[in-house]
Amino acid sequence: MSPARAPSQRARYNDLFERMLDSAFLVDPASLKVLEANAASERAFLAPAERLQKGSVLDWISPAHAEEFRRSVRVAMRRFHPRQFDCHWVDVDGNPLTMETVMCMLRLDDGRELLQVIAVDVTEDRRHRDRIAEHLNQLEEMNEKLQALSTTDELTQIANYRRFRDELGREHARAARYGTPYAVVFFDADHFKHFNDTNGHPAGDRLLRQLAEILREEARNTDLPARYGGEEFVVLCPGVDAEGASVLAERVRARVASTDFKHGEEQPGGRFTVSVGVASFPAHGASEEQVLQAADQALYVSKKSGRNRCTLAQAQAELGPPRRKTG
Ligand code: GH3
Ligand code: MG
Ligand code: MG
Repeated sequence: MSPARAPSQRARYNDLFERMLDSAFLVDPASLKVLEANAASERAFLAPAERLQKGSVLDWISPAHAEEFRRSVRVAMRRFHPRQFDCHWVDVDGNPLTMETVMCMLRLDDGRELLQVIAVDVTEDRRHRDRIAEHLNQLEEMNEKLQALSTTDELTQIANYRRFRDELGREHARAARYGTPYAVVFFDADHFKHFNDTNGHPAGDRLLRQLAEILREEARNTDLPARYGGEEFVVLCPGVDAEGASVLAERVRARVASTDFKHGEEQPGGRFTVSVGVASFPAHGASEEQVLQAADQALYVSKKSGRNRCTLAQAQAELGPPRRKTG
């Protein structure tokens, strides 16, 4: 350190000290008494310099951080290079101030050694950081909700068409690759227009919800029940062929037919029923579209032959001549 004349060193220091934008204290390292406090500290601690200079610097440190502060002073005294740490200070009203604190020994040219403590208020920074973290959390939550909304049918709370198509695409790719089967089971409410017309749309909605609940209960964990649209439902059964899936199909059909739904007795036939069509890969189609079409055709057969029944799709070759590609 180059020897400088005492007054100018001290004067220069005082000037810097006062103009500092952050709180700064000159502290006696032995007693921790505040010798000087700058203008910025008056603003941060809401107290005049006289008040700040009245006692120990520990008066402005949260009790929980006092020990850490003392330890830092001891290290600073030994090492003579700046030490930086997070510290909780308190203003004159006892409000906490989160401050990044830097302390360093200062050797004055009159031989005295003083502790310089600078505290940068990061309370706002932390608050901003917390707010940003909170916003991020909210965004994430919203995204999850949107994701769920875009894959869930609002009325019945089971998977919607979009989710079904996604899962069907994935299952088809897997099945085609590993040579495993999967089945698709279509359910269509019988004479549902009549039900709505007789009992009102809200009653129809209620019934669709009940139907979805039955599908949810009857399907296996690995199956995916979904609302295909309107009064039509579908269950995707991975790893199962049409014969296997027709067990589920028949179980659901029978359960619906034997359930006493409200207003069921006003339906044609005196009960509320569903018609079912079953098809599977690879027996009834080479593509997902063909499998869906085969299940739909089987459902149509159930409708034509009196409703309240299950029909298994016919083998692919019997579906009729393949359509010629145009263009
Ligand atoms: P079928 O036995 O041949 O299937 O006769 P259907 O009356 O069930 O068939 P249709 O296709 O003629 O009518 C379907 C009805 O389903 C008409 C439509 O208003 C009703 N529907 C579709 N979606 C909803 C819905 O979300 N809520 C209610 N309440 N009704 C719906
Ligand atoms: Mg229909
Ligand atoms: Mg119908």
